[in-house]
Amino acid sequence: MVDPETGRRTRVDAVFNPKHKDYFRVVNDARKTIEVMSNVFPAWPYPYSHETVVDGLSQMEYPMMVNDNPLEDVAESIELTDHEIFHTMFPFYMGINETQRAWMDEG
Ligand SMILES: [Zn+2]
Repeated sequence: MVDPETGRRTRVDAVFNPKHKDYFRVVNDARKTIEVMSNVFPAWPYPYSHETVVDGLSQMEYPMMVNDNPLEDVAESIELTDHEIFHTMFPFYMGINETQRAWMDEG
C-alpha cells in the first residue's frame, strides 16, 4: 500500500538466479523500502505501479527497475537495495540532471 487515501498499491518483484541466496530476502527488502518511502520518509506515495529488482552484474537504477549485483553481507545488500530504489525519486521523478549534478541523487 503506497497511498492509504486512495488504496493504491505497488507491485514489487525480484528476478534472480536462485544460487544467489541473498535474493530470497531482497524482494522483501525492496517492498519495505517502498512502504517506508511512501508512508514514513519522505512520506511520498510511490508514484509507479511496479518496481523490479534484477539480479545483475552492476549497481544501477532505471525507472521502475534496479540492477543489483548479489551481496553476501546483509547490511550491504539492504543498503544497495534501498539506495537504488530511492533513485526513483532522485533523479527520475524530480527530473534532476544526474550527469551534471550527481551529488544531488547520490547524496
Ligand atoms: Zn546511486
